[in-house]
Amino acid sequence: MNAHRCGNCGSVDLEWTSGEDLTCRHCGTRYRKVPKAAPKVVIKRGANVVFGPNAKVKIKGGMDIEDGANVRIEGSLEFDLEIVELGKPREADQKE
Ligand SMILES: [Zn+2]
Repeated sequence: MNAHRCGNCGSVDLEWTSGEDLTCRHCGTRYRKVPKAAPKVVIKRGANVVFGPNAKVKIKGGMDIEDGANVRIEGSLEFDLEIVELGKPREADQKE
């Protein structure tokens, strides 16, 4: 497991504020988990895709499933995500 570390102050005291957002409790910098790249896997409308129970698929970036595509996921899908900095909510207030 990767421990996430604040890029500003080095604290590992990061708190998940939602499923994809992190806030540093030490300096208030906010981070978000996003795909490393634009979706590389695009499943087109009308496609019929089944990831079987033994599938172990690692996707760099994300997956884009168009409306009308039929996708069944029985195996494991892993997305390669990174944490990006969103900046401090009130930068001026952090200075002492
Ligand atoms: Zn910090």
